[in-house]
Amino acid sequence: MKDSHGRVIDYLRISLTDRCNFRCIYCMPEEGVQQMPHDEILRIEEIVQAVRVAAGMGIRSIRLTGGEPLVRLGVVDLVRDIAGIPGIENVSMTTNGVLLPRMAADLKAAGLSRVNISLDTLDAEQFRQITRRGELQQTLDGIDAALAAGFDPVKINAVAVRSLNQDYLQFAELSIDRPLHVRFIEYMPVGESSGAHGCGWGKEDVISCEELFDAINEQARAKGLPELAAAGDGRPVGWGPATYFAFPGAQGTVGFISPLSRHFCGQCNRLRLTADGKLRPCLFSDEEFDLRGALRASDEEAQRAVFARALGAKPDDHHDKVGTERGMSQIGG
Ligand code: SAM
Ligand code: SF4
Repeated sequence: MKDSHGRVIDYLRISLTDRCNFRCIYCMPEEGVQQMPHDEILRIEEIVQAVRVAAGMGIRSIRLTGGEPLVRLGVVDLVRDIAGIPGIENVSMTTNGVLLPRMAADLKAAGLSRVNISLDTLDAEQFRQITRRGELQQTLDGIDAALAAGFDPVKINAVAVRSLNQDYLQFAELSIDRPLHVRFIEYMPVGESSGAHGCGWGKEDVISCEELFDAINEQARAKGLPELAAAGDGRPVGWGPATYFAFPGAQGTVGFISPLSRHFCGQCNRLRLTADGKLRPCLFSDEEFDLRGALRASDEEAQRAVFARALGAKPDDHHDKVGTERGMSQIGG
């Protein structure tokens, strides 16, 4: 599938649910989250059908996200069904890791190729402050479980928020002793327009990846430690335009994802499917196309037409648009 700007679109991110066992400060409000009604959320078999159609049109990689994808009932069977669809080359997941100790082995056996685990701090108190409902040890256990189950690579996603004052060097050092690929992500203004899912984003809280990179190396120098160098062949397999570095001799890498300071729209290869069945051409645009209606009408031609319309609507760039109606947990981050 090529879009109208000549980009090959072969990657679909699917939000399995808008529900979550955390309430991260950059993603959801603490209380009063407006949840989607159950009957509006795609059923498991509808998601499988959506992937079948997508695969027929050229989608090769699927990422399951949310909300928290592991709170969705039937997720292991869903992974198995999707992984078995002809044309699908890999199925990955982004999770907060809490349920991985229970589920990692089954997910691996079902055909999940890779996991990204979200973790923003190694300080237990700060973890509670950020997630509002979680304990650091739960996510650390999730990382152990992912490695023990044989996932490779295991990536750790950290959102950098200036006012949180996270210890970036300590975090980057997670990549030294184990094959963990730490990726810093710029804090994005998603879900701000409606107020309902706002995260209190402000420009002043954004730290550009360049600034982060310099801060990590400065902290390393101050401690007499080696600095980050461009990663060579050890670059982890993956999708998404992260720039990777590594500490000398480290088992993993440190990546920087800069959707704001350096747009990678020119390399964009994705569409998103929201938990309620809307195809979304761009994270930063509120334009959506209703796939659920076509799925519920069992009309495969109409389903293909919705994919084609969403593809045709992919903008060339997000042009620094700030704020979207829907929050990250609804769109699927
Ligand atoms: N619950 C899962 C998790 O946390 O990994 C999957 C869904 S979560 C919305 C997906 C990713 O979006 C997480 O890595 C999270 O840190 C990131 N995210 C959420 N809100 C963000 C924001 N405002 N800016 C940047 N990243 C954000
Ligand atoms: Fe939940 Fe993930 Fe959002 Fe945190 S970032 S509230 S874990 S969906």
